[in-house]
Amino acid sequence: MIDVNPYLKQYNDEIKLDATREINLRKSRNAIESTIVRYFENNNKKKPSFKGQGSFTMKTTINPKDTNDEYDIDYGIYLNCGDIIPEEKQDTKSEWVKPETVHGWIYDAVENQTSKKPENKNKCVRVKYGPSENEYSYHIDLPIYVEYQEKYYLAVKNDNEWVESNPRAIIDWFRNEVKEKGEDYRIIVRFLKSWSKLQSWNCKKPTGLVLTVLASEQYATATNDEGIYDLKLLDTVKNIISYLDKQIKKDKYELYNPIASDENLFKDYSQAAITELKEKLVNFNDNLDSALEAETTDDAFRHLRKCFKDIKDLDIDNQNENNYIKTSAPAILGNDGRSA
Ligand SMILES: [Mg+2]
Repeated sequence: MIDVNPYLKQYNDEIKLDATREINLRKSRNAIESTIVRYFENNNKKKPSFKGQGSFTMKTTINPKDTNDEYDIDYGIYLNCGDIIPEEKQDTKSEWVKPETVHGWIYDAVENQTSKKPENKNKCVRVKYGPSENEYSYHIDLPIYVEYQEKYYLAVKNDNEWVESNPRAIIDWFRNEVKEKGEDYRIIVRFLKSWSKLQSWNCKKPTGLVLTVLASEQYATATNDEGIYDLKLLDTVKNIISYLDKQIKKDKYELYNPIASDENLFKDYSQAAITELKEKLVNFNDNLDSALEAETTDDAFRHLRKCFKDIKDLDIDNQNENNYIKTSAPAILGNDGRSA
């Protein structure tokens, strides 16, 4: 049998958001923060604060697969409640400054941040970057919140309503999962996200959150050793398949948001969608199983490529870890925050 862990280890290094892209996103994010702080100063408003959320903060963002595949970060803006909630009107949300209005503030602030116009979306303002010669497009989403009495409210533009929502709770939950299950759990989530991106979905592409929660609930605990990706991935996928199998037989498909137990993440899934997810995972499982059973490296790699069609053969340098120097990072030009 062939040890496929070196392939999976190398694959994790390749799919995990590139260090250069990460720096690029941080620079752009910081530049946006300065622009917004300046806008608030100039308009006699109190300084907002900022907090990351979503997969960038969870470190499960993966590299784009092609030019149509934008990567992003979500960066929450927390407005000062003094600017939003009039005194003695705290209990009457309809008297608060309107979500449409605060969307307008942020849009105005970042309107000339890049050469592309931002997009005023329902739950965020999106600032868009690129593409440039050597880099794919990306964007930064700015959801807008106000905190009042330890609760967070998101500005939802189309309904013009403040909706209670705490985006940090899922980050805390995820960090705790990684602490309890180990770093391999995060890596399994990356593998599943990468696999999902490489499929063509007829019904419904599972969201990152669905894959993250499925992997958490069905995480394989057979081995506590770190870095045994093949067995953990195989057993986790097997467990997810049997979970989905049970769901298909029910009238109502269920997968609850770990931080909002009344939110069913499978609410909009049809039987066809659950079946498609299961069947694609069965296929993945069979190929990974065959890779693990293979007698030659060629055969193992052939099956691994059926799991992940962009997985690469082992880098010669990579076979001796001491000599391993990552050279695959693409050069990135421009777009360092305030591009022209
Ligand atoms: Mg986003």
